[in-house]
Amino acid sequence: MANLSSFRTIRDIHSAFESKKLSPVELTQEYLAAAKKSQTGAYLTFCDDLALKQARTAEDLILKHGGVPRDEFPLCGIPLGIKDNLTMDGVKTTCASKMLETYVAPYTATCVSRLEKAGAVTLGKLNLDEFAMGGSNENSAFGPVRHPTHPDRVPGGSSGGSAAAVKADLCFASLGSDTGGSIRLPASYCGVVGIKPTYGRVSRFGLVAFASSLDQVGPFARSVEDAALLMDVMSGYDPLDSTSIHQEKLNTVAATRLPTDWSKVRIGVPQEYFVGGLAPAVDRSIQSSLKWFEKQGAKLVPISLPHTQYAVAVYYIVAVSEASSNLARFDGIRFGQRPAASDQAKDLNDFYMKSRSLFGSEVKRRIILGTFALSSGYSEAYFKRACQVRRKIVDDFTQAFEKVDLIVGPVSPTTAFKLGEKNSDPLKMYLNDIFTIPANLAGLPALSVPCGTDEEGLPIGLHLMAAPFQENRLISAAHAFQNGFES
Ligand code: GLN
Repeated sequence: MANLSSFRTIRDIHSAFESKKLSPVELTQEYLAAAKKSQTGAYLTFCDDLALKQARTAEDLILKHGGVPRDEFPLCGIPLGIKDNLTMDGVKTTCASKMLETYVAPYTATCVSRLEKAGAVTLGKLNLDEFAMGGSNENSAFGPVRHPTHPDRVPGGSSGGSAAAVKADLCFASLGSDTGGSIRLPASYCGVVGIKPTYGRVSRFGLVAFASSLDQVGPFARSVEDAALLMDVMSGYDPLDSTSIHQEKLNTVAATRLPTDWSKVRIGVPQEYFVGGLAPAVDRSIQSSLKWFEKQGAKLVPISLPHTQYAVAVYYIVAVSEASSNLARFDGIRFGQRPAASDQAKDLNDFYMKSRSLFGSEVKRRIILGTFALSSGYSEAYFKRACQVRRKIVDDFTQAFEKVDLIVGPVSPTTAFKLGEKNSDPLKMYLNDIFTIPANLAGLPALSVPCGTDEEGLPIGLHLMAAPFQENRLISAAHAFQNGFES
């Protein structure tokens, strides 16, 4: 039996393969066994046959090349988990919703197929908040995910399964999606690295849409370098996604190998992100992280992002409006389950009532809010206004990035909270996203990297943001921080 937690990096795994300590098939079997035994609730579906087949292919490749063919197959034999709002051909994609409980996707998301082509092994599908709506993973129709080290707490959401599975060694790395913070928040709560790329950098083809102008797919891993490798592999133009950007594939891993000239790095510290309300332990960790950057020679520059106070309100108009439109297709006729009761429906309205009642309460709340915000007579007052204020938020960042290279702050005001603690008050839950939402509204690349723990040992994440397409800068700073900072 291999000790899965001894593998800290993809490099460790590849050297274990090469020294014949462990084969890709054995590793896959061990991860599957650990994942099936786990009480975290991180997985919704296991893909044993597919994973073992991919592991055998990896084994053959290593044999044929007399070692791991890293250049062509940088993820050779690396076991991954995939958030269950990304499609895989022939595998269930439930979005943690009763609506899609039995849906089997007929195609594979571009991001997943690129990882598979790079040699990855896909172990299964990971739990999430229903349709990625939530921040605690308590909105899954199939039960919550538990925090990997503090089971009475939430792992964060909506990609809670993706973060918990990496931390608990139930897969080596994973994919999530981030519409308002759903990669960075759970990464921060669970103590792993999570990256949201620039909007358009990674194809959304095969990602079940929540809010199309905000959604991005991104990786989770223990190290910045490994998360960066996954992002590099997934990046690049995809003709199947009309919002995909015509840009070369990223090579941020190469950027991490170059030394950083810290004297040229200006770090923006937004006054609006330090206005009280931060848990003392979070505040302390962020302050010592900032000092670390300063000690390297970086310049800390106080900045202002004056429209930050409107970000949550804008997000919860834009996101719910887009969601109400995107989710209209799930009606039991075009997409989605048709419950037995709808066969007895009196009329079409009754039919819709019955089929759409398969959605959970948070999804219903958002569809209703979004439909209202888009309805005739109100869309000017709500949706259009929100789009206008969104532009102001983008402008804040454009101006800030004329003065600084990176913006640094907390991912979340607190560490992971108790299961059930915020369930009765959706507004409280929404406010948790205050620091992560602006990057989605402005399409910026951003990440969470561990920077300490609180008095209970709960992880704290440092939030780094960069201007659009500045992933190299973002990743190399985070990589240096992860390897140099001692909390
Ligand atoms: N917590 C936010 C929400 O509930 C973000 C979700 C996400 O990024 N998918 O909408």
